[in-house]
Amino acid sequence: MLFKELADYYDRLETVSSRLKMVDIMADLLSHVSKAEVAKVVYMTEGILAPPFEAVEFGVAEKMMQEAIAVATGHTKDEVASSYKHTGDMGLTAQAMCADSKLKRMSARKFSVLEVYDSMAEIARTSGPGSKDAKITTLANLIAAASPQESKYVARYPMGQLRLGLGDATIMEALSKAAIGSRELKDKLERAYNICSDLGAVAERLFIGGADAMDNFKVTLFKPIRPALAERLPTAEQIMERMGGECAVEQKYDGFRCQVHKDGNTVKIFSRRLEETTSMFPDIIRAVQAEVKAKRAIFEGEALAFNEATSEFFPFQETIRRKRKHSVEEKAEEMPLHLFAFDLMFLEGKDYLNEPYKERREMLESVLRGSKTILPSTRIITKSPKELEDFFERSIENGLEGVVAKDLKAPYVAGARKFSWIKMKRSYRGELSDTLDLVIVGYFLGRGSRAEFQFGGLLCAAYNKSRDMFETVSKIGTGFSEAQMASFRELLSKSRVDSKPARVDSLIKPDFWVEPEYVVTIRADEITKSPTHTCGRGRQPDGSEAGYALRFPRIVDGARSDKAPEDATTTREIIEMFEQQKRVGVEEA
Ligand code: ATP
Repeated sequence: MLFKELADYYDRLETVSSRLKMVDIMADLLSHVSKAEVAKVVYMTEGILAPPFEAVEFGVAEKMMQEAIAVATGHTKDEVASSYKHTGDMGLTAQAMCADSKLKRMSARKFSVLEVYDSMAEIARTSGPGSKDAKITTLANLIAAASPQESKYVARYPMGQLRLGLGDATIMEALSKAAIGSRELKDKLERAYNICSDLGAVAERLFIGGADAMDNFKVTLFKPIRPALAERLPTAEQIMERMGGECAVEQKYDGFRCQVHKDGNTVKIFSRRLEETTSMFPDIIRAVQAEVKAKRAIFEGEALAFNEATSEFFPFQETIRRKRKHSVEEKAEEMPLHLFAFDLMFLEGKDYLNEPYKERREMLESVLRGSKTILPSTRIITKSPKELEDFFERSIENGLEGVVAKDLKAPYVAGARKFSWIKMKRSYRGELSDTLDLVIVGYFLGRGSRAEFQFGGLLCAAYNKSRDMFETVSKIGTGFSEAQMASFRELLSKSRVDSKPARVDSLIKPDFWVEPEYVVTIRADEITKSPTHTCGRGRQPDGSEAGYALRFPRIVDGARSDKAPEDATTTREIIEMFEQQKRVGVEEA
């Protein structure tokens, strides 16, 4: 495929305002690419060069791109910088500078998609002394030979500014349509993706092996599995009922989720967001090498600092200091980390995903027997709600967040939130017992005393998984420190778009729309029905239309880097939390 054709499709995707049209355009695009191209086109459309766990970065700073545009078009660096200040979009700047090039342009050369991808991969590979100039030269050569329209995407791609608004689910639906003409393959594609976390690889296997190849996806060492997630219920009775009268109950640790892959002495760790975090945990790596009694294994746990002498768990904020890449080794001595392992997915060549929890747990305990740093999570097996409740209270007393109940018979459900794991957290007086993770879809300008910050609050949405849409649930205007306001303005001004993104459903018009990209944690008192929000919107008994909203929402922290927009709290969860709140209210009254 020619890069010009891809740019035409991207132009169409950029302007479309309906998600269904987006799927159609993407399916049309995919039906025109070859087996050799499909993985790379999928990565390009996701705005990446390789799956996140491979950590391939372009390493192109704004200034480098501006210099490349200047070299390619004969404009001065100041002219390029001033255009960028004006547009806020490197793509539009590249396009404008190319259209108004001061150099004699080469006669239009036709690039293929693969040529552009390969040049970008080369840019990413270039490192060390002189690499900056080499990257600028490669970029300038591409831009000099590209049309203004092509240069828009050549400039946006390595800057992480493609922002086509497609999520993984949209791409999978389009792949299914391109392969068989309908959405029917979507579930199989999703299953394959959950096992390998590499959408490019899934697309390639589909194009080469057809629909059947999707059934043969196997767990592979060093390809992270998308994590299983927990549902929530507020009382021990409800949990026990849902679990069918018996379950395991584990302590819930508030640290870093670590998926550990081990093949002999080679050990890698992946985060909840499937990024490789091996370098953050040298002590855990050494412990896996020395303590885990298996040659090949994939298991999962939560890493946090724990003082053995006092049996004290350090809270997340303390543990997070470890995240800083510098002085990781020093910190490792000062605050030793433990990994509390809670699941096992692969052992000595055998895939355990479909084995029941009970069996996975037995194998996990057997490979960790005698280990000191990597400990199986503390748990009980019980039939009694009272025992569950007592275990929960003890966990809270020990400084933990709560418990996670587990269905003894359930498989490991990769990439999904199911009732095979149910969390119960400490509840705060007059507040929802759990925070919500919402996606920023717009923001408001400050008024009155806040005008100087040019930031007055956020418009936030939940993710509706079945519609693959972001539905608004809250306007958040309180709880921001001055520093937070400044940092949100700075962050969001870069994701601003002119019109409502195609996957956002909103009745409210913020001062600025932003591409759904950032997730924030919100605490609120209650979930209420609301005529102004689209989350879970439907007809009410009195004939009116209403959705759900949050009462007294306030921000807990800045944007979270460990969650993608599709990892946000879903509309279904919000409806469930609303129903649970009603039930607890009735029981208390
Ligand atoms: P999410 O459910 O989306 O991960 P979150 O990151 O806000 O949401 P919680 O909702 O608080 O986390 O709880 C689920 C998380 O709890 C898991 O992702 C896991 O990292 C952590 N966790 C801690 N202890 C356990 C345990 N024993 N079993 C399973 N998960 C545990």
